[in-house]
Amino acid sequence: MNVVVLGAGVVGTASAWYLRQAGHEVTVLERQPGAALETSFANGGQISVSHAQPWANPSALFKVLRSLGREDAPLLFRLRADPLQWRWCAQFVRECRPGRVAANLRRIVALADYSRRSLQSLRADSGIEYENLARGILHFYTDQAEFDRSCAAAAAMRELGCPRETIDADEVVRIEPALAGVRAKLVGGDFTASDESGDAYQFTSRLAAMGKAAGICFVHNMTVTRLLRGPGTISGVELIDGEGRHQVLHADAFIVALGSFSAALTAPLGIRLMIYPGKGYSATYPIVDPAAAPTVSLTDDGHKLVFSRLGSRLRVAGTCELNGYTRELNLVRCEAITRRVRALFPDACDYDAARYWTGLRPLTPSNLPYVGRTRYPNLFLNTGHGTLGWTMACGSGRALADIVAGRTPEVAFPFAR
Ligand SMILES: Cc1cc2nc3c(=O)[nH]c(=O)nc-3n(C[C@H](O)[C@H](O)[C@H](O)COP(=O)(O)OP(=O)(O)OC[C@H]3O[C@@H](n4cnc5c(N)ncnc54)[C@H](O)[C@@H]3O)c2cc1C
Repeated sequence: MNVVVLGAGVVGTASAWYLRQAGHEVTVLERQPGAALETSFANGGQISVSHAQPWANPSALFKVLRSLGREDAPLLFRLRADPLQWRWCAQFVRECRPGRVAANLRRIVALADYSRRSLQSLRADSGIEYENLARGILHFYTDQAEFDRSCAAAAAMRELGCPRETIDADEVVRIEPALAGVRAKLVGGDFTASDESGDAYQFTSRLAAMGKAAGICFVHNMTVTRLLRGPGTISGVELIDGEGRHQVLHADAFIVALGSFSAALTAPLGIRLMIYPGKGYSATYPIVDPAAAPTVSLTDDGHKLVFSRLGSRLRVAGTCELNGYTRELNLVRCEAITRRVRALFPDACDYDAARYWTGLRPLTPSNLPYVGRTRYPNLFLNTGHGTLGWTMACGSGRALADIVAGRTPEVAFPFAR
């Protein structure tokens, strides 16, 4: 079968890889000159099954209200005259009900766990390297109330088979000695040894190179403008190149993996995807003292920041701004990140050489991505992975290849049909 994948982020590239492995002729269309140059470029790096809790939960609304008006708040919400944003928010509130949260958590953990296993097999089979570290994820707390709440969250994750262990502050420092300087401020933590970290850009661009060698055709600098309807199916995709030349590409099947830009493409077909961009920031610092920088991937709960050691660099990411499609860097938010990292690891990095970046997480209200079929039998979705797209990319790509082939995926998940 001829399959066209729209988008070469980590999700589109992983989809293309597994589709090619299944024997299809695969073409990937991407507006950027390479793979993973938008949201998959400089994310937090965590392959995090242990912290797959959906953002929509009973305490989320209180946190949103508490952060209103604070420019440096981890969660920043700017109300716009945008019906999608309003509908998205209304659905988010519905997803905060306890019954919904429990069901969403179970499904996210199942897909994330399957995805981590898929990534591990891909790595073992191909030898792909991407500054990957399998040293676990350590979550540390400086606020007693947050730590107390986290014990219940960790217990809930253990019930789902995720070995997230609650630990005391001394154990936190034993696992990551670079935190010794702030030992007095720590109240505890939790640790999941099976979680991992790595550079999503390196992974995706290397997977794309491996895919090319295996016969996938990547077409770059090409913007998808429209999906064309045939009788009951999708007959083609309309494209425009950098010189303004239009063309149409026909294929047997089409996969939408355009991250935050997916909803605009499917809306004219009557497929309303509830995906809204959640702008996040990252800062990448050159490490000057390797012993003073963490090697275990960390989450600083109080500041909602994640840390991943990427070789000789430290990547720190977090914050979420619901404010449309702007990727503008807000210096107040950049400086808040660096202030915190410097306070934790004062001698580890050259903080004046920080590289700041923003990306648009394709957020769904439930945190569940759309993976599977649409009402058009040859149009498939793999999009809306929100905060966990790097974690879920391999599993969603592999499951999607099964669905395209008419097989039932190995993981229990509410796939779109
Ligand atoms: C600050 C931050 C930290 C994060 N940290 C983590 C983390 O630690 N762990 C984790 O699992 N996830 C994390 N994420 C989430 C993760 O990065 C995303 O979920 C993931 O990158 C989404 O991948 P994607 O392929 O769906 O989208 P993208 O990477 O955005 O890919 C979509 C592609 O489609 C292309 N495209 C869009 N429109 C068109 C068009 N019309 N024509 C042609 N091409 C088009 C884009 O150029 C892009 O390459 C983080 C995100 C952010 C912002």
